[in-house]
Parts: sequence; structure tokens; C-alpha cells
Amino acid sequence: MRIATVFLLPKCDLACRFCGSDLGFNALDESEALRWVGFAASNGYSSVVLGGGEPLLWPGDLQRVGARAKELGMVVQLNTNGVAWRKELETTDAIDRIILPLDGATAESHDYLRKPRGGHRAVVEDRLDRLSKSGKQATVGSVICRPNMAELPLLAAELQGRVDRGLNLHAWHLYRFIPIGRGGAVDGRNDEFGLEADEFRRHCEPIQAQQGTARTWKIFRRPDMTQSRDVDFFWKDKGVWHASGRGAAIKGIIGASSLDAEYIPVHSELEPLSPSENV
Ligand code: SF4
Repeated sequence: MRIATVFLLPKCDLACRFCGSDLGFNALDESEALRWVGFAASNGYSSVVLGGGEPLLWPGDLQRVGARAKELGMVVQLNTNGVAWRKELETTDAIDRIILPLDGATAESHDYLRKPRGGHRAVVEDRLDRLSKSGKQATVGSVICRPNMAELPLLAAELQGRVDRGLNLHAWHLYRFIPIGRGGAVDGRNDEFGLEADEFRRHCEPIQAQQGTARTWKIFRRPDMTQSRDVDFFWKDKGVWHASGRGAAIKGIIGASSLDAEYIPVHSELEPLSPSENV
């Protein structure tokens, strides 16, 4: 599965100490986001991730963008910190899966990393509870750094407990802290948080190895969150599109100031499926 992630806006309502996101890019307007969805569909991506900054602060209509992506046959994921939650996220058909962060096994350790908002862990717990009730699928992401690396077994046990109580958990992504972005590149942050790739692997592997055949969710290890075999990243800066990743499609967008109509498949022109195929 190839996944396309778009950074809809730089603004965020948290200031996480490890944040790898930058402020230096443009917010998209809704028509650009819809065109990008068409680009992703016509370039073979099977899933899109709507990200930021914080996508729930985006003034465009996330549900309209998600619905368009679904109409074009893609799985739609929303990567949010959960603060500006709207109840309709729990039930909307326009978003298949919600990605939420959990970075410490206790409120103290999580909230230390997710400054300045004390109580953020409680917010995430509430959002996961809501998703459990509604049955909407979730993915959890954790940035692993020196202060929280010993808490991985506790986090794994907590997630399994949530699954046992009804959370429809798709996966847990373990991201190694990388000293980039508005939080990660701060002076001294790498001294406090940094992990060598080997150290990161040694802490993650035992947790991944505990995955029995009975476990219905996967654990992925991401030593460099900016590089992935499966995920390409897209954003607009100073009026032109930028992209990174390994997919051939990124060459078709870098430097473009707008996405041409040729990237947007017109739904009515698609071959209608026969009833036997339409399953
Ligand atoms: S890591 Fe934190 S500050 Fe950075 S975009 Fe995500 S929620 Fe916002």
C-alpha cells in the first residue's frame, strides 16, 4: 500500500518538545486540497493521511476532502493531536481511521513531552474511549526518545488492554526522535532526547517480538519519521508544491504552483462497475 501524506497547514495548538514539523510552509485552501486528492488517486496511492500542523484547525472542510478521497477509492486517515476534537469525527464515513499520539505511560511523562498543555494525555484517553465506543478505527503513534524509552512495555500493555475492551486498533507506530523542526531542533533537545538508531531498535524489538498471532494490531518501527518505504509527503511552500519520499509520483508535483485538471479524474468518466464486480 502506498500512502500519501499532505501537510494542510503549519498551525498547531500544541508545542511539543519533539515536534519535527516546521512553520515554514503554506496552508492549503480547500480547492488545492481537493486537487491534491485527485493527484494522489491518479498516481496510485491507496491511502491519504490528512496532517499538519494540526488538521483540526484547518479552515477547509476535512469531511469534504475525505469524502472525495473515498469516492476515488482511497483509505482516509486523519493525523490529529485530538485537542480540537469534534464529535462527528467518531462517526463520519468520510474518515476511515484516526491517528492519535500517546508518548508516555503516565500523564507526567506524556504531558512533559507535549508541552505546554497539561492534561493532554487525558484528552487523548478521552478520544480513544470515544473511538472505542463508536468502533471507528484508530492508529496510535509514539515518539520514542530518552525520557520515555523505558515506558514502551507499559504503553504496549495499555494498548492491548484498550483493544481487549473494544478499541479497533489498526497499528502502533514507534517513531525515533529526530532533532528537526520547531521542537526537535531546539538547542540542547537532542542531548536530552536523542537515541542512536541501535538503541532505538534494541528497545523496540522486544515489544515487536511479543506480538503473538492472536494480536490483531501491528507494531511498526520507524527509525526516521521523514523516510519511509511506503509513505510520501506533500506540502506547499512559497506558492509551489514540495514532496519527499520514494514514490515516482513526487516528480510530478515538485515545483508545480497548482495542480492541473489532468491530475483530477472526473468521477463520471470512470468505467461503471458491473454488479458482479461491485462488491
Ligand atoms: S508534534 Fe505537537 S506541536 Fe508538532 S504538529 Fe504535532 S501536535 Fe503540533
